[in-house]
Amino acid sequence: MAEQVECTKCAKVVCDSEHFSEGAADCPTRTKQHVVDEALAEYEKPELREFARQASIQEFECYMNLPEGVTPRNPRVEEVAQFAKKMGYKKLGIAFCSGLRSEARLLATILENRGFQVVSICCKVGGVPKERIGIEEEQKIGGPGVWETMCNPISQAKILNSEHTEFNIVVGLCVGHDSLFFKYADAPVTVLIAKDRVFGHNPAAGLYLSGSYYRKLRRKEPLE
Ligand code: SF4
Repeated sequence: MAEQVECTKCAKVVCDSEHFSEGAADCPTRTKQHVVDEALAEYEKPELREFARQASIQEFECYMNLPEGVTPRNPRVEEVAQFAKKMGYKKLGIAFCSGLRSEARLLATILENRGFQVVSICCKVGGVPKERIGIEEEQKIGGPGVWETMCNPISQAKILNSEHTEFNIVVGLCVGHDSLFFKYADAPVTVLIAKDRVFGHNPAAGLYLSGSYYRKLRRKEPLE
């Protein structure tokens, strides 16, 4: 059986160079060329090609060549607005977590100031109790007997679909809820904020601290 694809463990990174075909024997650039070819065929679709092209231009424009060296310049919120403008989108959707309502409001203002029409939808839309998806009393955050509204990412997606948003932006949806939103949204989705309740919505901080204060993240434990 073919080796599992594990680029994270690559000891000879060549795919980012002109020597891309000289990777190790299990390098997917070599072993999965047929899949790469299939993927490349997708970029021949004009709409996808243009999307990919503009995304790469956006990436390029995020750096300045200063005398002291290449320097990044755009915060992600700026990038989101710039990319949407490049793509010619007029109507944007924001799918936000109710816990990040303030952030969603700020984002809506920033986008509206750039001329976009902004549709925004809260995760609690519909007011459906958590019992609807089988949550039990002892699984409620506020404790047994408390009314709790379920997060409703499928409704968020379908409502933005019904509004015909051209590009959707996720603000702080929970892990898994975001997955459902991605699955059901018609328009392309980008993430402005990935929820992290501990690290101020900066999940990378958990990785940076996993060798020191948060080394417990590296513990070994069985799946079951
Ligand atoms: S694609 Fe190949 S060269 Fe690139 S990181 Fe993966 S294994 Fe390494």
